[in-house]
Amino acid sequence: LELQLREAQKMEAIGTLAGGIAHDFNNILAAILGNVGLARMEVDKSHPARSFLDEINRAAVRARSLVQQILAFSRRQPQQLVAQGLRPIVDEAMALLRATLPARVALDLELSDEPMSVLADATQLQQVLMNLCTNAWHALSGSTGRIRVGMARQRLDAYSDPRLAQLPQGDYAHLWVADSGVGMSAEVLARVFEPFFTTKPVGQGTGLGLAVVHGIVKAHQGGITIDSAPGKGTTFHLYLPLLETEAQAPVTQPGDNLGELD
Ligand code: ADP
Repeated sequence: LELQLREAQKMEAIGTLAGGIAHDFNNILAAILGNVGLARMEVDKSHPARSFLDEINRAAVRARSLVQQILAFSRRQPQQLVAQGLRPIVDEAMALLRATLPARVALDLELSDEPMSVLADATQLQQVLMNLCTNAWHALSGSTGRIRVGMARQRLDAYSDPRLAQLPQGDYAHLWVADSGVGMSAEVLARVFEPFFTTKPVGQGTGLGLAVVHGIVKAHQGGITIDSAPGKGTTFHLYLPLLETEAQAPVTQPGDNLGELD
């Protein structure tokens, strides 16, 4: 637990530091972009210096988009935890995903019809699913392949996966995202949740996707495990504590119930 706490503090510190740097950089980039824009208006397209200015402009635009992603990551979004059904959240994310994925990627859904209520921020959970599915898609590396997304009720007890031992025993919604892609080595697997850790080429990956996933799942008092091996594909498993559903789910204020689930 102490290790986890230290890890969380490290993440928090990196987030704050990165946010501060990104903020300053944003101001510097605004000056570069503004002035390069003015210079490009003064320098005719036929002038030999014009292509250099265009290149500066392109690079600065790329830098601005990177900085904006870092700012979005470090900004502590206030959470809106609300008691609600999980299925509509997943359905909406999958509709969005289908619209984004190329036709050659098969998306198989294995979603239980059993009603499952969770204390959740819908937008954040959708971001989790989108990040995991986008990574799954990238892992298929241009070839055809499949992504499976599933959801089922699962009881966690003393006999469950030891990697989930930090979660209280009880009923959970188990969500999984599986791909038939390249898989991960043990070295990569050990670092995936680190902010800015990426194996993707410069400009294609920020290394923030899974750090964001990790933060959101933690904030939902949930757990996450990964099964992966090179050439064998990858499966992410998420566990979110279920609210009691026998009686009517209590109307919950944001922040309520957290103590019980802790
Ligand atoms: P990014 O996608 O920008 O690199 P992430 O934090 O989302 O950042 O992922 C970090 C790294 O984890 C990726 O660069 C990749 O090496 C690895 N990874 C994540 N998801 C998968 C997956 N489904 N299959 C293989 N590798 C993955």
